[in-house]
Amino acid sequence: MLGFYVHVPFCSAICNYCNFNRGLFDPALKARYVEALVGEIQRADRAERAERAEGRGQRAEADTIFFGGGTPSLLEPDEIARIIETCRSVFALAADAEITLEANPETVTEARLAAFRSAGINRLSFGVQSFRESELRRLSRLHTADRARAAVAEARAAGFDNLSLDLMMWLPEQQVAEWLESVDAAVALAPEHLSLYLLEVYPNAPLKDEMARANWSQAPDEDAAAMYLAAMERLEAAGYEQYEISNVARPGCRSRHNLKYWTDGEWLGFGCGAHSTRDGARWKNVASTDDYILRMMRGESVAVDVRRLSPDERLGDLLFTGLRLADGVNLDTIRAEYGVDIWERHRPELEPFVEAGVLQHDGPRLWLTRQGMLLAHEVMAIFV
Ligand code: SF4
Repeated sequence: MLGFYVHVPFCSAICNYCNFNRGLFDPALKARYVEALVGEIQRADRAERAERAEGRGQRAEADTIFFGGGTPSLLEPDEIARIIETCRSVFALAADAEITLEANPETVTEARLAAFRSAGINRLSFGVQSFRESELRRLSRLHTADRARAAVAEARAAGFDNLSLDLMMWLPEQQVAEWLESVDAAVALAPEHLSLYLLEVYPNAPLKDEMARANWSQAPDEDAAAMYLAAMERLEAAGYEQYEISNVARPGCRSRHNLKYWTDGEWLGFGCGAHSTRDGARWKNVASTDDYILRMMRGESVAVDVRRLSPDERLGDLLFTGLRLADGVNLDTIRAEYGVDIWERHRPELEPFVEAGVLQHDGPRLWLTRQGMLLAHEVMAIFV
């Protein structure tokens, strides 16, 4: 089934490390953007009708919507409801579709969360990043640790039973024990899902200058590895399953939407900078919010960089993303679908990783060990 990604490029303030496609919130711009989004989804309707007229058959089925950003919780609940309803009017949206809203803790109240729930949202992903005040201030985040805790309590009170928290490790001046304090604080809130990311300080990020001025540094690489491994062990002990390099979940609570990205799935992205993959083609929308709105108003295409993928590119992508999963990839399935024996084709490059304990190969399965996940990019470079 298809998934939909809806990009919301607005934030109340711009975090000093952020490298996402976003800008400052402006109510008038937001209103025009929502019109453009609805227009883009309706435009997909025309394409769908044309496909059906040519014999594709039923309406395309979808079972996930993911509002990502930016800060999608800055949209009003009725705007979220309108976008979901537009998706439902165009596609056959499953009755039990997973509909996720990324939310920043400072943007919500219990009443607002209840309204998002009535609008159709059934999964929340809170951008918490840390439960230590000094770290949140260093990242220029607007919320406090207490606000994050309150947001989780408000979400539970509003009836949400599927919550995810994002945490970031390897922050400036952060030690392993301090990182684990945040992991423990997250576990204490019992979310169904957690995503753990390593902070990447981009060359042009304001944080890079702030770190230089304040003489802050990131711990050595060995400590970053220790943070990752210790967190995964602690989360496993608390009943979470690691199912992807950066993601853990309670049984049955994996992100159905994100799994589409890692399992050769298909999805349509709406909004500025959103990517889509369908029927062997891939495209992305124009990145600028203004340009996106303007093109929609003029009735022009918002897609740029449309490419049909060759079988080799699809296979490379499947291996690149599939190896992110704890289950890895099934080489028999790949051989049946792509006619390629991956093990035979890449044996000389793969064997040294198996001998080093980075990869495991057992029967048809090929997967990264947890230690190996720290070296994932070196292994994936073989395939792309
Ligand atoms: S809230 Fe998220 S998207 Fe917005 S500026 Fe901060 S890191 Fe970037």
